[in-house]
Amino acid sequence: MNQPMLALGDPVLGEEEKTALCAVIDSGWLTMGDRVGAFEQAFADLHGVASAVAVNSCTAALHLCLCAFDIGPGDEVLVPAITFVATANAVIYVGATPVFVDVEGPERPHLSLQDAAEKCTDKTRAVIVMHYGGYPVDLPAWREFADERGLILIEDAAHSPAIEEVGHWGDGSAFSFFSNKNMTTAEGGMVLSPSPEVLARVRQLRSHGMTATTIERHRGHAYSYDVTALGYNYRLDELRAAIGLVQLARLPAWTTRRRRLTDSYRRFFSELLPEVHFPFAAEEHTAAHILPVLLPDDADRQNIMAALRAQGIQSSIHYPPIHHFAYYRKRFPSTVLPNSDAFFSRELTLPLHPRMTEEEVERVVKALQKALREEKHDL
Ligand SMILES: *Cc1c(COP(=O)(O)O)cnc(C)c1O
Repeated sequence: MNQPMLALGDPVLGEEEKTALCAVIDSGWLTMGDRVGAFEQAFADLHGVASAVAVNSCTAALHLCLCAFDIGPGDEVLVPAITFVATANAVIYVGATPVFVDVEGPERPHLSLQDAAEKCTDKTRAVIVMHYGGYPVDLPAWREFADERGLILIEDAAHSPAIEEVGHWGDGSAFSFFSNKNMTTAEGGMVLSPSPEVLARVRQLRSHGMTATTIERHRGHAYSYDVTALGYNYRLDELRAAIGLVQLARLPAWTTRRRRLTDSYRRFFSELLPEVHFPFAAEEHTAAHILPVLLPDDADRQNIMAALRAQGIQSSIHYPPIHHFAYYRKRFPSTVLPNSDAFFSRELTLPLHPRMTEEEVERVVKALQKALREEKHDL
C-alpha cells in the first residue's frame, strides 16, 4: 500500500499564477503599483465594502489595526489563546498587555463572551476575536459587547475570507494570504475597516508613515514627502498582488468545495466513527478553513498522529494554546483557561483542501478508525 502522502493543506497554484507573475516581471514595476491597487479593490468588492489596504502579512494587519487606534502601553486587549500566536504577539508589539480569554467549550472553541466580560478592567481598550476554522463568531453579539464598554473590536479573519458578515462588524479586520490559508500570495495580508480614516492610517503606516508613495512621485503627483507617524515597511509587492488577483477569483469555488468535503467528513464520521466529535458540528456557514475533530477523552493523540502518518496521512493541532508557550508562560504565568485546555487536549486537525476527493476523505476517516481501534487493543 504505497499511497502518496495526503497533506493537511495544499495550495492550488498553476499556469494562471505563472502567467500573472511573468507579466509583472515584464512590466518592470515590482512593488506597490496598479496590481496592489487592483487586488485591494477586488478584495473589497468580494467583501461588499468600499476599500481595503493590502499588507505583507496578517500579523502586520493586526499590528496596524492596533496602531491605528493608538492602543499602546497601559492598555489591555482581550485575546483568545486558541489561535495562532500572532494574534497575541501583535498586542505586545504595540506595548499593550494581552489578556487571555477562555473559549466557550470544546464543541465551540470561540472566545467566550461571559469570560470576556469577567476579564474586562478599566484598562481594557480592545478585543480581538478569531473566526476559528472559518466559523464566524457571533459578530452582532461582540459588536454589542464592545459598544457597551467603549471597546475597539478587531477581527482576526485569517481563517475566514469572503464570508458574508466577516469584516463588517469589526472596527478593523485582518486577513491572511500565507501559503496554508484558503487563498495565498505566499505571504500577504489585508485590512478591512468601515472607517475610511482607519484605512488611511493603515495605508500610511504600512509604508514608514510617509505622506506620499513612490508611484505618486513617479507619476509626478508629488515631489517630496513628509513622515508624520512612526510607520513600518509592511508593503505588499506586485508579484504577490498578481497571484492574489488570480487566487481571489477562484476562492468562492474553493470555499464551496471545502464545505462539501466538510460535509463528507461529517457523514463518514457519523457512519463509521460517531465517538469522534466535531466542533461547530451543525454549522454550515463557514469558510471551512480546516477540519478539526475532537478525539475521545481516552485517546492518546501522539499515538494516533503517528499511526495516521504511517498510513500516509498528515495531521496537526490547531492550536497549542498561546499561554502554554515558554515566552508567554514566563510573562503571564497565572493564566488559567480550563475550556481552552480541554479543547486543546482533544483536538486533531485532518487534511482539508480543495483538491481532495471524497475517496480521500473516506480514507482519512477509515485510517483514524483503524488507529483508534489499534490503540484500544494496545491498552
Ligand atoms: C495564519 C494566521 C495568522 C498570521 O498570518 P500571517 O499572514 O502568516 O501573518 C494570524 N492569525 C491566525 C488565526 C492565523 O491562522
